[in-house]
Amino acid sequence: MMADQKTSSNGSIDNTDIVEALDKAVDGLIAWIMDWHAPVVTGNRLTELGEQQRSLLHLKSFQAWFKANDDDAVINQPTVRALFDLSVAIEEQASALSKSGGHTTDSEYRELLKNVQAFISQARRLERAFAAASSDLDTLTGIQNRLAMRRALERRHDRMERTDARATIALADLDHFKIVNDTYGHHAGDQVLSVVAARMLDGIRSYDQLFRYGGEEFLVLLDDAEPETTRVILERLRMSLEEAPIKLNDGIEITLTASFGAAEINKNETIEKTIERADAALYRAKEAGRNRVILDDEKE
Ligand code: GH3
Ligand code: MG
Ligand code: MG
Repeated sequence: MMADQKTSSNGSIDNTDIVEALDKAVDGLIAWIMDWHAPVVTGNRLTELGEQQRSLLHLKSFQAWFKANDDDAVINQPTVRALFDLSVAIEEQASALSKSGGHTTDSEYRELLKNVQAFISQARRLERAFAAASSDLDTLTGIQNRLAMRRALERRHDRMERTDARATIALADLDHFKIVNDTYGHHAGDQVLSVVAARMLDGIRSYDQLFRYGGEEFLVLLDDAEPETTRVILERLRMSLEEAPIKLNDGIEITLTASFGAAEINKNETIEKTIERADAALYRAKEAGRNRVILDDEKE
């Protein structure tokens, strides 16, 4: 079913790369600090400068990795930048200490250890955050998956108790998508799904959320949306597909449409029931000829 997921659709860095880079930096730092302490235990003189520089390579490659990716918003954020700054401080302190030829003051030494410890715990915390975030993402399209969707919907449903703002669930299902697979192959179908997800992301507002509901179906959580707004946004999404063909890597252009069904979240009804109503509206949109938007409580 899920072919060729290794290639990220937009070529940008993904969370597993980040976790791997952090992991290497931490392992390298621990190895280095152990090397550094070995002479104390063995009674040999401080490790040769060259040797120390070599084991600091891991820290250096972390710095190089950060610099190579600092145009990526996911990488160049305060928490990762702070880690980079710590690595620079550790490197400077280590180099100063190794030049002191064993005449290191207690406070200098403690300062270095403090930074090493801060680096490791901060890197581990970041790793956990990135790993958790990537388990929320659909591997094909990069948008949030069903797991993340359930959580977001439940949370929004709970919030109905405390807000008058209205929220709506919309289901979008690609029209005759089976034909795309049958005509161009499953791999082309996968590419199409990626492009559709990107277009829909472009079309929603910053506080709306898009999820891959399953197969060729997407779910949009529209926050703070009156029915008129819901219609405007969903029509915009519908048009964004209808208006411009999807260009695949090998030059093939595919014109594709989608049908939409929407239902408003209600605190007196479970989320499952709301999804059912959205699905029923979607079914009506399909029956009525596809490529259209139907809101559950609207008359046809
Ligand atoms: P309708 O307008 O009634 O929705 O027609 P349809 O062909 O889109 O509907 P149907 O449910 O018959 O087919 C959905 C197709 O979506 C069949 C399935 O192979 C394809 N599909 C589901 N998930 C994926 C995926 O991850 N990648 C690809 N390439 N195809 C998928
Ligand atoms: Mg379907
Ligand atoms: Mg379909």
